[in-house]
Amino acid sequence: MLLIELQKMESATAKIGTQKRDLPIRMNELDAEFQTLCAAMEGEQEELENLKKLKREKDGLLQKGQETLRKAKERLTEVKTNKEYQSILKEIETIGTKNGQIEDETISLIDQLEEREKVVKAKKEELEGQRRCYEEGKAKMAQELDSLASALEESQTKSDVLKKQVPADMLRKYEQIKNAGRGVAVVPVWKEVCDGCHMHIPPQLYNELQKFKSLITCPNCSRIIYWENRNG
Ligand SMILES: [Zn+2]
Repeated sequence: MLLIELQKMESATAKIGTQKRDLPIRMNELDAEFQTLCAAMEGEQEELENLKKLKREKDGLLQKGQETLRKAKERLTEVKTNKEYQSILKEIETIGTKNGQIEDETISLIDQLEEREKVVKAKKEELEGQRRCYEEGKAKMAQELDSLASALEESQTKSDVLKKQVPADMLRKYEQIKNAGRGVAVVPVWKEVCDGCHMHIPPQLYNELQKFKSLITCPNCSRIIYWENRNG
């Protein structure tokens, strides 16, 4: 029966249409997931840059401190009084202590930097793997979208060809039922159960259906029904 073919083709078309509509949503989700990973990586990188900046600042401070120390020691050779000598010695000690602190802080910073660099390197490698996955996934989806578009076109064309073959009054009835029955007008019946509404149809009607002489509709959901032999 042409209507069965038409219904099958239209259902297939609708299914492809749904897939084609949903795929870009999945693609956007994939984009967002990867963007999140990239943003996290940027955060890690930023933290590393902050540590490097801090290290540069400490290096500058230490350089200045060492310069101050050198100058103080120079002054030591030019002093005239013991009091002045003691005072500069004290100054040298203070500068030395401060420089020592900066050196300690620098050593701790170097440790942190090394640790962070290791983490960032590992995460970068991880991200590269994720990027490959993402790009492959994206390319696959784009390909899928292309094939869905052509499958949809083909399916729609086939539906249109079938529609032209169906007698006008039959097609009108089909469209009417389709609009009332949530998009499906023709459904199979097996073992007295309608596939559209899952209700039992009377045995007499089931017998009639198997003989297949006229257009029969389900007494419950009003869809056009046909007997589908599922015994293989
Ligand atoms: Zn039904």
